[in-house]
Order: sequence, then structure tokens, then C-alpha cells
Amino acid sequence: MLSPHPGTWLYPTDHGLYCEPGQFFIDPHRPVDRAVITHGHGDHARSGHGAALATPATIEIMKVRYGPQSAGRFEAADGALDVNGVSVRLAPAGHILGSAQVVLEWQGVRAVASGDYKRQPDPTCAPFELVPCDLFITEATFGLPVFKHEPADKEVRRLCASLKANPERSHLLGVYNLGKCQRMIVLMRGAGFDRPIYLHGALRSLCDLYERLGIGLGELRDVMSAKPGELAGAMVLCPPSAINDRWSRRLADPITSFASGWMRVRARARQRGVELPLVVSDHCDWPELLRTIAETQAEEVWVTHGRDDALVYQIGKMGKRGRALALVGFEDEDD
Ligand SMILES: [Zn+2]
Ligand SMILES: [Zn+2]
Repeated sequence: MLSPHPGTWLYPTDHGLYCEPGQFFIDPHRPVDRAVITHGHGDHARSGHGAALATPATIEIMKVRYGPQSAGRFEAADGALDVNGVSVRLAPAGHILGSAQVVLEWQGVRAVASGDYKRQPDPTCAPFELVPCDLFITEATFGLPVFKHEPADKEVRRLCASLKANPERSHLLGVYNLGKCQRMIVLMRGAGFDRPIYLHGALRSLCDLYERLGIGLGELRDVMSAKPGELAGAMVLCPPSAINDRWSRRLADPITSFASGWMRVRARARQRGVELPLVVSDHCDWPELLRTIAETQAEEVWVTHGRDDALVYQIGKMGKRGRALALVGFEDEDD
């Protein structure tokens, strides 16, 4: 029997990507009866689903961010499950703690929806698992040849060198509160930075959760409870939106920094007034996207969101069928 083309049973709808025989959506942006959630970032994990199937860590993240009742029912995925005849397995995506690719098998066809993923090592989560498949579904946040991320440990060494060279000035580092924050802390600890790290209040609850889930972050202090003078020369982390707001005026002559794949673009760093841009991303850069697409050996590749033109064109040059899904509801918030 010829296998049905995956586009006949897995397709985009106005709620998001839908698996028809399984009767579930993957990372839907509106409430649905049953959702499979790849990871805890806000553009993938939303509250209000009847049932949310995810890894145990993603479920914990959702409960911290949205509350314990944020889904009618949470289902922790462990190994392969049968969902209405479709085999569903969550494989590590290497993006943030708990992040997963959704591996679907139905009538002899394997499709992998990778969510957000990266290939660079990250001490705060399990590494990306390469799953050969017929259809690979990828994002394209950094889907242009200009995007090439630096090795994260190299960027962290630059930050540590600046701390050493400027012992009187505090360093204010903008980080997304889920994933990037904890990765930067663990990398700094690995680079030998053993002093307390000060946190903006918005970063505290997810750092506490990482600690509870076994990711050691060293001594963290709340910046608001620091005594006068204590912050001179201190390492302070805050959400990107707080780098230049009133809050940061309590710091003495801070050196502002931001860890993001967008820091490759100098204009973006200037726009935000960032003195020390660090090109650290939790997404694939262009070479990683192409390498992964080649390694999956998929004949067909769908691009969910991001800079899809260049990537779909490149997929065609690789001898594969490429398709831009242009799914809505995804942002660049978590890069
Ligand atoms: Zn993400
Ligand atoms: Zn995303």
C-alpha cells in the first residue's frame, strides 16, 4: 500500500498545525481540546487547552508561568504513546529545559515537528536528537546566511573578561527569562565566575524552578534587596525590556549587555544601547539549519515561521520539496 502523503493528515489550520487522525494540534495559538506542546516559551505553550501533552519539565514550566490549572489536564509524555492510532514520541530538541521535537508516525510515514531547536551544546538541557524522517518541520528564526552564532562559551568568556577589566562598574545583562537566563548563569559558573549573581525580580521564579529540577545556578540574590554600594562591580541579569528603563538607574554606571542571536546585527545592538553585545542564541543559525535538514534525510521540509524565503529556496537546491507554512502567532521573543 502506498503511504498517504503527510500533507493529507498533518496540515496548518487557523488554530495551528493539526494532526487529523490523532485529533491534536502541535503548539496551537488558540485553546483546543488537545495540544502537544514542544516547550514552555509563550509562543508555543499557551494556557486554556483541554489537555496538554508535554515533557515533565515543560509541564512544570507551564504551571509556574500560567498556574497549575492552566490546562484541563496535563499529560506527561514518557516514551512513545499511541494517540488515536498515531504514534507520538517527544525527542529532545536542545532548545531549553524540557524542549522536545514531536515525532509522529502514521501508516508508515514519519514526520518530525521540531518546534524550536539548536545544535550548539547547552548545559541546561538534553542535546538535540537527530531523528531521520520523511517530513521535517523546522522554524527559520535565523533563516538567512548572515546569521552565524558564536560559540556560547566564547561569548561568556568575553563577558567575564569585561567584569575583570571593569571592577568598579556593574554589568547589566539582558536575557530572556526562560532558557537564556539560566544558560548564561550556568556558562558563567563553568567559566569560573563564583560570585553572587543579582536578578531582576522577573527572573526569579523560573530560576527557582530550574534549581528544583536539578540545574544548579550558584548563589543568586535579588537586586532590589542589595545594600547601597553592593552592586558596584556586580553581575546583574534582567529581562531585555529592562536594560534601559528606570529600574537600571540604581546601578552604578553599568555596562549594558544583551545575549541574543540578534546581536549579530549591529544596528539592533545600537538601537537598544547595548555596549557589549553577545551573539548567543537558543535557535539554530543558518549553517545549523542546513546541516540538520540534510541529516534528517527528509524528502520534504516545511518551514513554520521566521525568514522562510531564503530557507525554502535553499531546501529546493538541496533536492528536497520545501514549503512555507507561514504559521501565525510565533514571535522572536525567545531567541
Ligand atoms: Zn522557544
Ligand atoms: Zn519559538
